[in-house]
Amino acid sequence: MEKLNKLSPSCDEGADQIPDRRRCRGAGEPLDLIVIGAGPAGLFCAINASGKDRKILVLEKKKSPGSKLLISGSGRCNLTHDGDMQSFLDHYGDNGRFLRPALLGFTNRDLVAFFEERGLAMITLEGGKVFPETQRSRDVLAVLLAEGEARGVQIVCGKSVTSIEKSGEGFLVACWDETYRSRTLVIATGGRSYPATGSTGDGYGFAEALGHAIAEIGPALAPVRIRDYPFADLAGISLPGARVSIFRGKKVREHEGDVLFTHEGLSGPGILDLSRSIRAGDVLRVSFVVDETREDLERWLLDRSRGDGARNLRSILAEMDIPARLASRVLEILEIPQDLKCASMTREMRIGLADRLSGFPLVVEGLGGYGCAMATRGGVDLKEVDSKTMESRLARGLYFSGEILDVDGDTGGYNLQAAFSTGFLAARSIQKRLSDQEGTR
Ligand SMILES: Cc1cc2nc3c(=O)[nH]c(=O)nc-3n(C[C@H](O)[C@H](O)[C@H](O)COP(=O)(O)OP(=O)(O)OC[C@H]3O[C@@H](n4cnc5c(N)ncnc54)[C@H](O)[C@@H]3O)c2cc1C
Repeated sequence: MEKLNKLSPSCDEGADQIPDRRRCRGAGEPLDLIVIGAGPAGLFCAINASGKDRKILVLEKKKSPGSKLLISGSGRCNLTHDGDMQSFLDHYGDNGRFLRPALLGFTNRDLVAFFEERGLAMITLEGGKVFPETQRSRDVLAVLLAEGEARGVQIVCGKSVTSIEKSGEGFLVACWDETYRSRTLVIATGGRSYPATGSTGDGYGFAEALGHAIAEIGPALAPVRIRDYPFADLAGISLPGARVSIFRGKKVREHEGDVLFTHEGLSGPGILDLSRSIRAGDVLRVSFVVDETREDLERWLLDRSRGDGARNLRSILAEMDIPARLASRVLEILEIPQDLKCASMTREMRIGLADRLSGFPLVVEGLGGYGCAMATRGGVDLKEVDSKTMESRLARGLYFSGEILDVDGDTGGYNLQAAFSTGFLAARSIQKRLSDQEGTR
């Protein structure tokens, strides 16, 4: 540790050079804890595992810590959500149950309190999203780094971990130029999305090297590209509270949320939150009217054709808050004249309109890739991790936290909360393990 006694993040200037010979750090006493990855999960874990005279080292491959945290929420950092913890669990797809102990052990209220006690006030904005009052993610990172410094956590940047292995009761962690020894190890390397932030999926290989299975990974919180997309020129139009259903033979899932037309397909929270379940070839049915079934719409159109026969069909579609250009495109697709009077609407037209407006079918070409996905689905198989401690069931002393795990959240602050909560839970267990070991030394 002799060269690692700086308290603020240091950058290993030689990180880009080829080593002459790999040195072994800690040939004497091993470090108490090494955390791989200085994202929110790794930093928070290191902070909370710290203790008097405890040697904790965070290794970060980028030249500075928290790159993804800095761009989160478009730089405003939607830190968590204001909802109650029970409803929180519904925002992580099928694997939400795994997070229960973590989220109950360190809640959204605890997270807000952590930052407010350190002088960073929080505000709750649209839809219950919680942000720092300054709406600057760099202020969130600054609190984490100051806390780490105060607690003696050492962060070395520009240090890409290349391999790990179990060695007796501890671990050997190798970088390009040297190898470290530690009693406990946390893999907090994130997922694979936005690889420019450093999250390039290295952690999956490390976990595999220690025997862990990886549930198939893929982009999540990603926009979708649509085959033969008919709304490219309507990019920018958004549909508040649209119902989106996924069909793969039968209906797989349904979700309501704001949907945005893009040049290539669909985006917006209603699509992003559903994207972990969407696969190429799926049919998405998107409602252009809120709260109306196909049958309701057909009946309503029939009433209009009888009661408002002289009116233009387009003008009554406007009553349903369908954007005019979208209504016009749907008429065009159904080959219904734009100036058709309601009285002239045929049964076939009525059925076609009710069908398309209540659930317009669009075939998924594919999901946006890791370059635009805000999260990664899949990851370290949860069956092999103890949800109460985040410790590996295969290698004692090995822990996981954050997005590397096979669980990902909706938009709205759920992913950062999961990163902090799993980091905290791992830290609590590491504290106990190290204290027990210290007691017997
Ligand atoms: C554009 C964007 C906006 C987002 N906005 C929000 C938001 O507002 N609210 C929200 O809740 N979530 C948001 N997210 C998701 C959230 O940022 C992530 O889920 C969260 O950062 C995951 O934290 P983590 O610590 O697990 O991983 P990361 O933040 O990805 O950190 C992992 C770290 O490990 C390092 N690392 C990787 N491999 C190695 C290696 N071999 N050696 C050393 N270090 C390594 C990486 O460089 C990185 O710094 C957003 C994501 C994106 C991409």
